Amino acid sequence: MLYGAIEAGGTKMVCAVGDENGKILERISIPTKTTEETMPDIIAYFKDKDIKAIGLACFGPIDLNKASDTYGYITATPKTAWINFDIVGCLKKAFNIPIGFDTDVNGSLLGEATWGCAKGLTDAIYITIGTGIGAGIMSGGKLLHGMLHPEAGHILMRRYPEDGYQGKCPFHKDCFEGLAAGPAIEERWGQKAIDLADKKEVWELESKYIAQAIFNYILTLSPRKIILGGGVMHQEQLFPMIRKKVLEMNAGYIKTKELDNIEEYIVPASLDDNQGIMGAIKLAMEAEMSFIKG
Ligand code: ADP
Ligand code: ZN
Repeated sequence: MLYGAIEAGGTKMVCAVGDENGKILERISIPTKTTEETMPDIIAYFKDKDIKAIGLACFGPIDLNKASDTYGYITATPKTAWINFDIVGCLKKAFNIPIGFDTDVNGSLLGEATWGCAKGLTDAIYITIGTGIGAGIMSGGKLLHGMLHPEAGHILMRRYPEDGYQGKCPFHKDCFEGLAAGPAIEERWGQKAIDLADKKEVWELESKYIAQAIFNYILTLSPRKIILGGGVMHQEQLFPMIRKKVLEMNAGYIKTKELDNIEEYIVPASLDDNQGIMGAIKLAMEAEMSFIKG
């Protein structure tokens, strides 16, 4: 059985065909321009494929409420060409097959929970630290949606006194994303993040902010695994620093076997950067299943 998968991002749309084992058989990458330019290319790619459903893991904010008139829309995105675009409707019209839809980060988490390091777990989070910060959350075996969907990259932070940087989030200035996403690192230190690799103070501060956010997620979401992905996390020295600081912030309060074994609790993504597109395959499989069940 073949499934279509789309990982829709602000700079590129990865489209793939995969099977029920999460195996990717072919893929292309289409630049994200306007809806009029990009959607026809996506549709043309899938047109002759014998796919049973499509899974779409999408940048947001998006409307995931099936009872809403704008279900399947990208809503208030900073990518202005895509504001209020009915992306699910557009695919549905072109293919008339089930379309699974979720956030990009919930997609990545679903990939990891199905075929990666969170396999078999019912409670996990996936955090991406790249151009922006976002988190996918699974609780009790279900991807968390709620009123909208989690926007856990924008939680408010306790600032560190040595940090004079004002923050980059256009809405909240010094939220987590405003202080710790790639563009914030680059503006604070005046250099590309990748060129700051050997500047200890950069990663010391970065790891403190990431640890602070993770500690808040541990307290509120009680995950059994915390997976970190995105461009900034290519700085692998961050992992031991983050783990150490999370334990310091916890100060012995929560005592679990996961925290005792923190190297296996706070981990890098495990699917070679395929977690998003593999998660989209799983979204397609789930959409097909719920279509069959009615
Ligand atoms: P996106 O979030 O746009 O999907 P990425 O996850 O690759 O893409 O994140 C891009 C951000 O991550 C940029 O701000 C970039 O500076 C930063 N980044 C990318 N690679 C590295 C690296 N090796 N080390 C540190 N920062 C990086
Ligand atoms: Zn914000």
